[in-house]
Amino acid sequence: MNALPLKKSNPFENALKQFDKAAKFLNLTENQMAKIKEPRRIVELNLPVRMDDGSVRTFKGYRVHHNIDRGPAKGGIRFHPDVNMDDVKALAFWMTFKCAVVGIPFGGGKGGVIVDPAALSQNELENLTRRYCAELVDLFGPDSDVPAPDVNTNAQIMAWIFDTYSMHKRQHLPGVVTGKPLELGGSVGRNKATAQGMVFCVREAANHLKINLNQAKVAIQGFGNAGSFAAQLLSEDGAKVIGISDVSGAYYNPDGIDIVKALETCRNNKRWLLQGLEMHTKVEKLDNPMKVLELDVDILIPAALENQITDENAPNIKARIIAECANGPVTPEADDILDKKNVFIIPDILCNAGGVTVSYFEWVQNRMGFYWSEEQVNENLHRMMVKAFHEVLAISQQHNLSMRIAAFVQAIDRVTTVSELRGLYA
Ligand code: NAD
Repeated sequence: MNALPLKKSNPFENALKQFDKAAKFLNLTENQMAKIKEPRRIVELNLPVRMDDGSVRTFKGYRVHHNIDRGPAKGGIRFHPDVNMDDVKALAFWMTFKCAVVGIPFGGGKGGVIVDPAALSQNELENLTRRYCAELVDLFGPDSDVPAPDVNTNAQIMAWIFDTYSMHKRQHLPGVVTGKPLELGGSVGRNKATAQGMVFCVREAANHLKINLNQAKVAIQGFGNAGSFAAQLLSEDGAKVIGISDVSGAYYNPDGIDIVKALETCRNNKRWLLQGLEMHTKVEKLDNPMKVLELDVDILIPAALENQITDENAPNIKARIIAECANGPVTPEADDILDKKNVFIIPDILCNAGGVTVSYFEWVQNRMGFYWSEEQVNENLHRMMVKAFHEVLAISQQHNLSMRIAAFVQAIDRVTTVSELRGLYA
C-alpha cells in the first residue's frame, strides 16, 4: 500500500519555512540565524552487513546533529526504505526545537538507515544495528549524542546499541541510549510517553476549546508505538475512536472501534499490524486508507509519517483539533489552509515531546543509578507538558500567531539565548 500523497514535499525545506516565519517575528539577525538554522554535523555511512546466507550487503545510514548549544544531541533512529538525508535533517531540526519548547537540556539529532527491517531476520537486524553503532561510536555518548527509538526501531534495538557502545568503551554506560528495556535501565512509562504527552496536550486543548473529551470522536493514522497508545489512552478518557490505520489499511466504525480487539489483532499477527481487523470486530475497511484523515471527527491524530496532510486533502479535513503525534505530518501549504478553517493544531514539537521528555527522565535515572516510580514519571511528564502547552498558548494568543509558530518562537528564543551566551569559539 502506498498511502503517501502523490505530491512530494521536502521535509527539511518545510522545516526551514516554519523557522523563517518565527525568526521573522523574533527579528533574528543574519548572524543569529546562521548559527542555529542549518545542521552542525552530517554523517553519511555505508554499512556492510553479513547476511544469513553468508553474503555481505551494504546499507546507507545517516546521523545528523542539528544544534547542540543546549545539550547533547538527542534523537531517534529510523529504519525505513524511504529514509533520506533531507528527512533526517528535518527530524534533527525538529528535535532541537522540541527539546527547547519543553525545556529539557538537549540539542537536536536524528539518525536513519535505508532498510525495510521486516525483510531482515532478527540476526541480520542485530548485525546492522551493531554496525551502525560501531561506526558512530565516537559521535555517540551520554554527554554528546543520545539516540532513541523512532519508526521501526524498538527497545531490543536500543539494547544492542547500549551493548555495542559499552563494549567499545569497556564501561557500563546505559545513558548512551534511551528507550531501552526496563531490565537494562529503561524508564517506566517510556513506551507510552509520546502518546501520554499528546493526551496531556489534547486535554488542555479540549478544555480551551470547550470540547468534551468524553464525547469526542477521534481518528488516528498510524498504529505503532505512538498511534496504538494514543488510541488506548484516549479511549480510556472516554473518547470514541472511530477510525484507525496502518500500512495494512484503514478501518472505520462510526460507533467506535473496539481498541482492545485492535491491540489483540496486532499482537496475534506475525508483525504488529491491524491486518485482518475486519474479521475480529465490527469495522469497515476503507478503500482509500488516506480517507482516515478526512473522517468526521473532533480530534485527528496523525501518528505515521511526514507530509500526510497537504494542500490536496487539507480542505477536506473536518477535525477541530489536530494533535501531531508524527513529526511534520502537515505541510506549510496545508497549515495555511487549516489556519483559515480555524483548526487548532497542536504542533509536533510540542505535541509529541512526551517521548523525548521521558527519554530525558531515563537519561537522568541512568546517571543517578536511582530509578523512579511510574507515578513520579507521570507527574513530572504532566507538569512539563502542561507548562509547555500553556506557555505556547499564551504566546499564540498574545501575538495572534498559530500554535506552530508560537511554539517555534518560544523554542528559537531559548536556543538563541543559549547560543548568544556561549558566544563563538574561534
Ligand atoms: P512505529 O514504527 O512504531 O509506527 C509507525 C506506524 O505508522 C505503523 O503502524 C505503520 O504501519 C504506520 N504507517 C507507516 N506508513 C504509513 C502510511 N503511509 N499510512 C498509514 N500508516 C502508516 O513508529 P512510531 O514510533 O509510532 O512513530 C510514528 C510517528 O511518531 C513518527 O513520525 C515518529 O517520528 C513520531 N514520533 C515517535 C516518537 C516515539 O517515541 N516513538 C516520539 C516522537 C515522535
